[in-house]
Amino acid sequence: MAKRILTLIVDPIKCDAYGHCAEIAPEIIALDPWGYPIIRGQVAGAAKAHAEMAVRQCPRQALSIKASNVDVDRPVGSTRR
Ligand code: SF4
Repeated sequence: MAKRILTLIVDPIKCDAYGHCAEIAPEIIALDPWGYPIIRGQVAGAAKAHAEMAVRQCPRQALSIKASNVDVDRPVGSTRR
């Protein structure tokens, strides 16, 4: 069975490091000492709306949300399909 995972992605080349996104979604975005975002987990639950708002309001369009499917029935480290 596949589970859909949403992950917040930062493009460090576009990012201006002013940290606006961490003010919008502090539950999922922290800042490093230089002001660049550190993503602290998956986009889920109550954090999803804030993450989506951070993506929309990023002044440099440096944030995006990537969806991926994870096979939850396959043992960790397994390479069989
Ligand atoms: S709002 Fe956008 S440009 Fe500003 S720190 Fe966050 S990712 Fe970087």
